[in-house]
Amino acid sequence: MRSLSEAERDLIRLVNDPGYARWLEQIRSIGGCAHPVYLSGCTITRDAVTGEIIWAYSTGHEPGERLPVRCRNRRASVCAPCSRLHAGDTFHLVRAGLSGGKKVPDAVRNRPRLFVTLTAPSFGPVHRVAEDGGPCRPRRDAPVCEHGRLLGCGLVHSEDDRLAGLPLCADCYDYTSHVLWHTHTGRLWDRFTTAVRRHLASAGGIPRSRLGDDLVVSFAKVAEFQRRAAVHFHAVVRLDGPDGPGTSPPAWATAQLLLDAVRHAAASSFVTPPDSDAYGIERLAWGAQFDARPIRSFSEGDALSDEAVAAYVAKYVSKGAAETAAGLDYRITSLDDIRAAAVNGHVRALMGTCWRLGGLAELEHLRLRGWAHSLGHRGHILTKSRRYSTTYAALRADRAAHLRTGTGTGTANDPDTITESAWRYVGSGHTPGAAQLAAGIAEDHAQNREIGREIRQGGDCA
Ligand SMILES: [Zn+2]
Ligand SMILES: [Zn+2]
Ligand SMILES: [Zn+2]
Repeated sequence: MRSLSEAERDLIRLVNDPGYARWLEQIRSIGGCAHPVYLSGCTITRDAVTGEIIWAYSTGHEPGERLPVRCRNRRASVCAPCSRLHAGDTFHLVRAGLSGGKKVPDAVRNRPRLFVTLTAPSFGPVHRVAEDGGPCRPRRDAPVCEHGRLLGCGLVHSEDDRLAGLPLCADCYDYTSHVLWHTHTGRLWDRFTTAVRRHLASAGGIPRSRLGDDLVVSFAKVAEFQRRAAVHFHAVVRLDGPDGPGTSPPAWATAQLLLDAVRHAAASSFVTPPDSDAYGIERLAWGAQFDARPIRSFSEGDALSDEAVAAYVAKYVSKGAAETAAGLDYRITSLDDIRAAAVNGHVRALMGTCWRLGGLAELEHLRLRGWAHSLGHRGHILTKSRRYSTTYAALRADRAAHLRTGTGTGTANDPDTITESAWRYVGSGHTPGAAQLAAGIAEDHAQNREIGREIRQGGDCA
């Protein structure tokens, strides 16, 4: 007889545990999270006047005296169920800023709104998937670079072609600029938004410092790794009146003016990298490829709809650097990590460049080694200005309140009660058998959602 695997032995242990049914219920309630965090503790709600206990919960009666909570990772490669939840929250967050809802007034749909795409500049020619299905970089002559490599390519690359996105010549490719650009995108974006505001102020004939008396520029932006392993940004930009989403901007602040401001800012903003003998780069700016389209309640012409924009942005937040083949989902701690990473030569060269530049004293503050796994790009995938719409925290709190009401424990925000809690972290992750069961639960949830969506869209269930 075949001997049992570790996971099989663990499964047998689990299902024979007296707490199995309750544990399964817990894992169902967190959607089959792949890396739950286990907490131990209690919450007691008392009547504020009499001190009488109205509701109490303690992990003392739970299996293992602990309770699993979601890992909340946004990346599908780390935890598929939490990633789906996060993408859903992102959709609601972006859509609320376009259509209203989640405490954002519906009037935001009447404000000037644009969907803007800002790209990285060229760091050298790469193999590309032509939109018309034609050849990559056709050239009648056959010029070669100083390394003797062809500067043209007559091949047709498909989406999954391993060559797509790779430089025609890795020795010509400007890896230093690529990495420095990545690490400065946060500052470049700040310069961009400042330039938008300056343009608007001068068009309205008011000093830049007084612009806030007339209007507020709100945005939500998402970073996306392109095939050449360079990030580009999609952003919703909206104009409100001085008191945010509930107020209109002045009549002179039109969608056309916003478009002019955004176009001008994209072409003019730049950042100066720190001085170094390692390179002669003086400015880092946006790429020439730029797109800005009006957003309407419904798609028409080249305008995008609220829903389409929100869905588009939500799709990108669930992707990690690893899924877009442009990095790793874990930090790099040595050159050996870079050598061993399961990435192509182009991405490895970018990581190596982060490591090399990160060792220079004059660039120490950029902490490039700490961000080598994401090729120097740091920070959040989605960022938004304070007044754009709601927050992830508010969406989660809504969901938690909804759950509490559903289980008859909706007293947390009642002013006549006092709630005391004491919780501590006691561990994380699944045993091999538990991981299999959780994956099955996650799959069921995903299928149920899919079926639910089809029914809502009027799909045929026969
Ligand atoms: Zn999770
Ligand atoms: Zn090619
Ligand atoms: Zn070359």
